[in-house]
Amino acid sequence: MYQLPDIKTGLDLTEDQEVIRSMVADFAKTELAPQAHDIDEHHRFPKDSWDKIVELGIPGILFPEELGGSNMGTLTYAMAVEEIAKVCGSTGLTLAAHVSLGTYPIYAWGGEKLTQQYVPALIAGEFMGAYGLTEPGAGSDSGGTRTTAVLDGDEYILNGRKCFITNANHAGVFICTAVTDRSAGTKGISAFVVPRDTPGFSLEKGEVKLGMRGSDWASLVFEDARIPRDHLLGPEGEGFTTFMKTLDGGRISIAALSLGIAEGAYECARQYVTEREAFGGTLADQQAVQFKLADMHMQCEAAKPLVYHAARTKDAGKPYTLEGSLAKLYASEAAMKVTYDAIQLYGGFGYSREYPVERMWRDAKLCVIGEGTSEVQRMVIARQILRAVKAST
Ligand SMILES: Cc1cc2nc3c(=O)[nH]c(=O)nc-3n(C[C@H](O)[C@H](O)[C@H](O)COP(=O)(O)OP(=O)(O)OC[C@H]3O[C@@H](n4cnc5c(N)ncnc54)[C@H](O)[C@@H]3O)c2cc1C
Repeated sequence: MYQLPDIKTGLDLTEDQEVIRSMVADFAKTELAPQAHDIDEHHRFPKDSWDKIVELGIPGILFPEELGGSNMGTLTYAMAVEEIAKVCGSTGLTLAAHVSLGTYPIYAWGGEKLTQQYVPALIAGEFMGAYGLTEPGAGSDSGGTRTTAVLDGDEYILNGRKCFITNANHAGVFICTAVTDRSAGTKGISAFVVPRDTPGFSLEKGEVKLGMRGSDWASLVFEDARIPRDHLLGPEGEGFTTFMKTLDGGRISIAALSLGIAEGAYECARQYVTEREAFGGTLADQQAVQFKLADMHMQCEAAKPLVYHAARTKDAGKPYTLEGSLAKLYASEAAMKVTYDAIQLYGGFGYSREYPVERMWRDAKLCVIGEGTSEVQRMVIARQILRAVKAST
């Protein structure tokens, strides 16, 4: 059994934040770590663990008390994702997708009616939330959405399909984009809240995954699916903007997920090299091993302030598009490097399924793809920094 990291960060956390962090870390260590291997190996969504996460109030950290949340903010939520991801990337992704993608958009743009109808139930774990943006023909280029929505009396009729949708099989509600005016480009894309029991709406089994195998996904199929008109999320034509803003926040949670995976792999490797005997001592006695470990630690410690800064910027009510992308890009690429090096330090044992580091490496790969690939993050960052120059000239 590997040793879990210290929970103190030295990053000016409040006492409440330390308490929540410690609570989630204990829970992750006792409840999630023991089954992380099994859920990955058997592609099993851990419903029992998810129910305990709900009991602990973790999905409500971000939301106000009147909706059943605890109003503890983005940083506390990000740290919860981080702590969970240290031991189980799949469960970290489940939480991040449920909160940032499946619940937050209804809270932020759903108005009183949709918020009251869905957000308390999502926080209380009556069902999960899912976010349907990606289509077989439109991923990074999500402005190329092909799903259509046509108003017919008091209903919109949706046709099309979405793929790779996290938590879909456990979701009671889906936030989806569809084109309402093809001639208006991205300004003709609208967002909808789709109840699970919508006639004409169904799920199709997701593909077998490389990593994050304990996290659920499926495709969404719309065949003349009839959505009540009042389930339009925000004004018609603003769905693309709503979805991009949702991703700005979602990226902070994927950054936290990446950081947690990197820290988990680093801790495993640190422990292992002090135990593995070779050349008359342990691996940790070898300077080349120490250097690799030092680099891994440096990458985790460099990612952490970027992630926390992005979360704090959102909590301060300031724009956070740039901060979220910087944190996501850096932390996810750090997670790839750290998990890769962790396997190297374990040698052949790292390559085997016996040890957690190969799972962590496979899980980390999602982080450089989901919610905007690394290439997309570089586009977002470049756009933001060049816009700042243009604005000042
Ligand atoms: C485990 C998992 C969970 C997911 N969950 C969800 C979910 O819940 N909801 C959802 O909507 N989606 C989800 N996705 C989908 C994910 O967001 C997309 O896979 C991702 O945005 C990339 O889109 P794509 O797969 O179509 O790749 P493509 O867009 O086809 O990209 C392929 C490659 O080309 C590169 N590329 C594309 N355009 C450019 C360009 N202009 N310049 C340079 N490089 C470019 C990309 O960076 C990438 O490397 C999930 C994906 C995974 C793997």
